[in-house]
Amino acid sequence: MVLEEVGKPMMVKEWPEPECPPDGAVIRVEASGICRSDWHLWQGDWGWIGFKMRMPTVLGHEFAGVVEEVGKEVKTLKTGMRVVVPLAQGCGVCGDCRTGHSNLCMGAGMGGYARYGLLNHADFNFAPLPDKIDFVEASSMGCRYVTAYHGILDQGQVRADESVVVYGCGGVGLSAVQIATALGARVIAVDLDDRKLELAKKVGAADVINGRNNDPVKAVMDLTRGGADVSVDALGIAATCRNAVASLRKRGRHIQIGLTTQGEKGEVALPVDQIVFKEIQFIGSLAIQSFRYPAILSMVERGRLEPRKLISETIPLEKAFGVLDQMSKFENAGISVINQF
Ligand SMILES: [Zn+2]
Ligand SMILES: [Zn+2]
Repeated sequence: MVLEEVGKPMMVKEWPEPECPPDGAVIRVEASGICRSDWHLWQGDWGWIGFKMRMPTVLGHEFAGVVEEVGKEVKTLKTGMRVVVPLAQGCGVCGDCRTGHSNLCMGAGMGGYARYGLLNHADFNFAPLPDKIDFVEASSMGCRYVTAYHGILDQGQVRADESVVVYGCGGVGLSAVQIATALGARVIAVDLDDRKLELAKKVGAADVINGRNNDPVKAVMDLTRGGADVSVDALGIAATCRNAVASLRKRGRHIQIGLTTQGEKGEVALPVDQIVFKEIQFIGSLAIQSFRYPAILSMVERGRLEPRKLISETIPLEKAFGVLDQMSKFENAGISVINQF
């Protein structure tokens, strides 16, 4: 499914198979999640942080499959192995990668909306998929699920005795609800859509708030008697970011996972004096390091985490653009996965 021009419908057409780099691997894609980051790229967002995409291109950064071919320098991977393809594919040698922050190296996986995709720097970014986890469930963990995991565990340091409010119950928001609940935290989910709030309840939210009928900040303050310990903006629009920060108690931590849209172009006005007087921390969170996948996959294998519960439908590649198009109206509930190519 090829993106030829920003904002124009993507078409399924013939496209050359990726060439295997000496240190990379070609993956036969068996399942591919449809993530809002692709919607952002299709919209032409993130020029404001210096991001520019080569066109035409094949998007899709949330996939799992089988190793089809390995480059001649690759030592760990063999053809036929089952893998998850990490979103952030670090180079393995830069300062960020060498100090354990390969998620900031900014080598991103792409090409999941096709039969064959690439895994770059394959030895460094190798994430073997246990037999117990099928490709559809695994594909939901390429980006959103692991991004929420990094936000909640690593960046947010959420503990079992804390309250967490999650603004925005799309894929990353629902993942954050499920992961924080699994850690033992008390989770409050906020959205404008009752269908998404129903899903949030199913994956563990103790309370849900529809921001259309209620002032969500006041509701959070009442439920938590003075503010949440941790807030998550899982969407990235001005209203969710500001409301999330305003929902915190003194010394609270805000985790910013959502990236902004054309409406904000990267800038959101925040109550800085309140942040100072309450000693609030504003924490960014981006993707996750490839070496963290085995730990997360092990939790899924043991049934501690259940990304499967976030999957709402499996569809053929031909229907994938329709899902991205729906995202403009925030109509999608749960995660859509392509499983036919
Ligand atoms: Zn994504
Ligand atoms: Zn690097």
